[in-house]
Amino acid sequence: MSTIAAIATAQAAAGLGTVKISGENALTVADSVFSAVSGKKISETPGYRALYGKVHDGETVIDDAVALVFRAPKSYTGEDVVEISCHGGLYILKRVLRAVLNAGAVPAEGGEFTKRAFLNGKMDLSEAEAVMSLISASGEEARAATLNALDGALSREIADCRDKLAVAAAFMAAWVDYPDDEIPELSDDEMTNTLTDVHNRLEKLLSGFDAGKAILEGIDTAIVGRPNVGKSTLLNALSGSERAIVTSVAGTTRDVLEETVRVGNITLRLADTAGIRENTDDEIEKIGVERAKERFDRASLVLMVLDAQNEISDDDKELLAMCKRKNCIVVVNKTDGEIRLSMSELKTLTDNTIVEISAKNSLGLETLTNAIEETVGTAGFDPSAPLITTERQRSCVVKAVENIEEALSGIQMGITPDAVNVCIDCAIENLCVLTGEKATQTVVDEVFKNFCVGK
Ligand code: GDP
Ligand code: MG
Repeated sequence: MSTIAAIATAQAAAGLGTVKISGENALTVADSVFSAVSGKKISETPGYRALYGKVHDGETVIDDAVALVFRAPKSYTGEDVVEISCHGGLYILKRVLRAVLNAGAVPAEGGEFTKRAFLNGKMDLSEAEAVMSLISASGEEARAATLNALDGALSREIADCRDKLAVAAAFMAAWVDYPDDEIPELSDDEMTNTLTDVHNRLEKLLSGFDAGKAILEGIDTAIVGRPNVGKSTLLNALSGSERAIVTSVAGTTRDVLEETVRVGNITLRLADTAGIRENTDDEIEKIGVERAKERFDRASLVLMVLDAQNEISDDDKELLAMCKRKNCIVVVNKTDGEIRLSMSELKTLTDNTIVEISAKNSLGLETLTNAIEETVGTAGFDPSAPLITTERQRSCVVKAVENIEEALSGIQMGITPDAVNVCIDCAIENLCVLTGEKATQTVVDEVFKNFCVGK
């Protein structure tokens, strides 16, 4: 396999930056661009050692650098690896990378280091996916959950389910093939118990998927309501209550304003929409309203804001009706003044959770946070439990669950053990695809396609 190289650190000016080289010739490639002060050669240096010296392109010295040596198989990729760390200016890093490529390495593709780690048996496919989640993790729980996956919590759970199925299938096959031998018959009850147990464990993984996704990727949230009910104030209060504002993308004032805020254990991608009103003649406002509706349709969570100091209007009622089909929390704002909104009327108009707040005085935000965690399903999220984190993993588990259900109903209807075994084999196969033991080249490529270069 070729020797690959890439800038492994962020593409921005920083104190330090690293160019990573991996492959058969990593040590000799590094030797031709790096001269240690001690005169030692990288190719004569044992693994887990660092050398200090200069990195150069031909005669031209580029920078002072430290070369860190890893020897196969004890490296991230399982191959010989050298990491050259120098000053983190982007220009310097690009120069170093060019020198390394001139010396015979080829540019790494996105995810190629991790792909090699997978191909060399350093990690399975679900762990490789965890690497990517970990890189983009925002927040403590996302970090803990992905690190847990990287440690193999999911792999172990899947392997255990698969082994249980394999034992059951082997018993059944042996009993079918050698009916005369002294192989104890696995009773339908035992078989059913094993299958049900595995089925439940897989179902549990599936039920954790949405919460995990919410924690890892954040939730598309729309704040809707009539003009002036306090939507923008709520957005500000929520982003002010947590300092971790990551982005703030503003369109025009009549457009959708987006902020990413941490609320409780999740990241909300909050959109403060233009007030949704059916009847407006203003052309620009019409576009704003269209966008607001689009955003509303796309949102996984809606915060529907009402003004406590006014009676519920027809516009409010219409919005409440629209929210019936959504994951929605009804937020009664401005509870700090004289209240004209009738709570009993409101309760007849919605089945959604109702929370009373004063956005202006930041009152009730904790109750709102708890309501959000409850609604999204992340309340009580356990980052140490095995977690499926990608659609790919989910679809493998869904298929395996279907296979097991087929096997279970087959046993109930008294179909032949052979036919039951076919279903169990399919389930095992699908679990093997999840971990990558049986994944096709296309699946593997798909997994690594979205990785950044240098990982
Ligand atoms: P939007 O049009 O829904 O975005 O509403 P704004 O956030 O712009 O707020 C409209 C007005 O209501 C502003 O004058 C705010 O100061 C006021 N307001 C917002 N939240 C509260 C609140 O909790 N209590 C009171 N008394 N006024 C509020
Ligand atoms: Mg506003």
